[in-house]
Amino acid sequence: MGSRKIFALDTSAFIAGFNPSEIDYDVYSVPNVEKELIKAGLPKVRFQTAVESGKLKIQTPHARYVEAVKESATETGDIFCLSEADILVLALAAQLKDEGNTPIVVTDDYSMQNVASKNNISFTSLATFGIRYRLQWQVYCPACHKKYPSNYKHKDCEICGTKLKRKPKTKNPTNQQT
Ligand SMILES: [Zn+2]
Repeated sequence: MGSRKIFALDTSAFIAGFNPSEIDYDVYSVPNVEKELIKAGLPKVRFQTAVESGKLKIQTPHARYVEAVKESATETGDIFCLSEADILVLALAAQLKDEGNTPIVVTDDYSMQNVASKNNISFTSLATFGIRYRLQWQVYCPACHKKYPSNYKHKDCEICGTKLKRKPKTKNPTNQQT
């Protein structure tokens, strides 16, 4: 009783077409998610519109929650699959939960779901909201910028040995509902 239901959104949720303005519950995200969205794209417009209307609340989680999420993501081996924004969304969800809310992370990302489970954070896929869309990832080396296929099996760059990162690849979802 009295527990507020909150949805916490990652970058993939916005890219896939999630519109916070259409949801009856409070919606939260982190500043880094906005940075990951492509400039002038529809997801960014939806993001900014929802912020302006007060529907979408942007909050940076406390450092101790970020550390806790990083620790468990390291334990599960998901850390190299997660962007800074992903980690902050999970940390924010952990914090909101600690504050007595019921947050649900909306994500189709397996690594995020995995780390959410480990931290006893509820999550749901975008299909829950009628969104069916598979996000394409570009795996790349942040140091020498070599690109790798999304299913690349190694964690480190074959050229320079730097830990690989990834970012959303597809700009325009094909079967997006409006
Ligand atoms: Zn490299």
